[in-house]
Amino acid sequence: MIRFFQSITVLALALAAGGAAAEPPRMALGAGPRTGDVYVVEVPVSSADAAAELARREFNIASIRENRAEIYAVREELELLDALGYSWHVIRRDGDGTKALGEYNGYASVTAMLAAYAQAYPAITRLESVGQSVEGRELWVLYISDNPGIEEDEPEFKYIGTIHGDEPLGTEMCLHFIDLLLTGYGQIPRITDLVDNTSIAILPLLNPDGREAGTRMNANGVDLNRAFPRYPFDYTGNQGDGEPLQAAGRQPEVVRVMEWTAANRFVLSANFHTGALLVNYPYDEDGVPSGADAPTPDDALFQELARRYARENLPMWNSPYFADGISNGSAWYSIFGSMQDWNYRYMACNEVTIELSNTKWPPAGALPAFWDDNREAMLRYLEAVHLGVRGLVTDALTGQPLDARVTVQGNAQPVFTDPDVGDYHRTLLPGVYTITIRANGYYPQTFINLIVTSGPATRIDAALIPLDAPFDADVNNDGEVNAIDVQLVINAALGLSVPAGADINADGAVDAIDIQLVINAALTRSYAPATAQE
Ligand code: ZN
Repeated sequence: MIRFFQSITVLALALAAGGAAAEPPRMALGAGPRTGDVYVVEVPVSSADAAAELARREFNIASIRENRAEIYAVREELELLDALGYSWHVIRRDGDGTKALGEYNGYASVTAMLAAYAQAYPAITRLESVGQSVEGRELWVLYISDNPGIEEDEPEFKYIGTIHGDEPLGTEMCLHFIDLLLTGYGQIPRITDLVDNTSIAILPLLNPDGREAGTRMNANGVDLNRAFPRYPFDYTGNQGDGEPLQAAGRQPEVVRVMEWTAANRFVLSANFHTGALLVNYPYDEDGVPSGADAPTPDDALFQELARRYARENLPMWNSPYFADGISNGSAWYSIFGSMQDWNYRYMACNEVTIELSNTKWPPAGALPAFWDDNREAMLRYLEAVHLGVRGLVTDALTGQPLDARVTVQGNAQPVFTDPDVGDYHRTLLPGVYTITIRANGYYPQTFINLIVTSGPATRIDAALIPLDAPFDADVNNDGEVNAIDVQLVINAALGLSVPAGADINADGAVDAIDIQLVINAALTRSYAPATAQE
């Protein structure tokens, strides 16, 4: 207990010097690495402050429930607990006592099962590896869609299992879910519809090395769900606004999932854990003390997304600890560098963290009951990817898809089009909204009083007009663009007349785009010929 003694000595010296102000607080190891023996430790926390202090010091908290925290700690962190005055006792050593995991599907059988599914359902699946773990295991992702591998005007969705290697129940739920989608396709209209209209990605095993060792951490001793870029230290904004990826120096599994996520445009996502029973939603950390609510601009939406899952999982819904079986991440306990915060802040992807079971690794015999509890919840959550507003954003002249930014009035969170197709998907609760669509080099368009229902997303396509479009909108050549020109184009578009010059963008048809162009010109004179401008 040398460190313990040292800390007392330091404290005594600091007090003797008239205060401890200059002494930075001793911190636990955060994301890690934790090398040597890692202990799973129960720490009674008598107060919210005592729990918050553990989070602030960046102990590796796995759960907090019933006035006790479960943390993963190495010896020096146990000494820090002593120094801080916490009592604790070791439950087990990380990696020990995980024999039951052998009854679940490990890396080899997950690999074999995914290959078999891909082979049996080639028309609606594509199996890929997003890269390798520290020890060279593949990080498999199975895509399920009607045209897998082809970018379409469809929202993209992902489920990720077992980021913590000793929490493999998520892998099992992902495998069951894959089976449900594939065997249900063409048999169950609801599932056929989902597969036909959604780009679904399932990555059942993100931490295969930890899974094989039965440990929480990856093979380098790092907690992958603490190892994503930390806001605002490692990044300050969204990829769509030009923020760099900042993947250098991170764990291989984190880098691979970051690159994969950034190469797509996921709209909705969830990652699975065990050790508690709830859905928690961002933020996990936003500068407020651990235990305090840290809402995102989409807090009401996240609450409803979380409830949507929990409501279908009765043990979760009836939780004695969490109202409706949900919690804001930070309100439970704050963590730094989590995957869900990174998805929301950096990728504009709504991700939640689903804790499936209070028991870390329930016996394999309980798996059918867990699947019963989660089947409908997983479907319902996936279906939420179709809520809100969606559309295609294109260049009004060429019809080419655009890289565009879509914002909702009164909400700071943007979403971005997938530039491959130009489609955007803004998940929103039912209501009336005003949205604005912007792209560099184009006039923005605003759509007011859009009605969003609880049904399929409201479709708003936008053909944006280039700032430098060389249009002549002075249809009657009287030297100005005004209401008369607008009327002439409308008449032509309705087939009432065909005055020369009404085809403003010269694409061979007088249609809504020409009407938009002449209205913009009348309001701004932007597209009038040079001689007609003041
Ligand atoms: Zn976990």
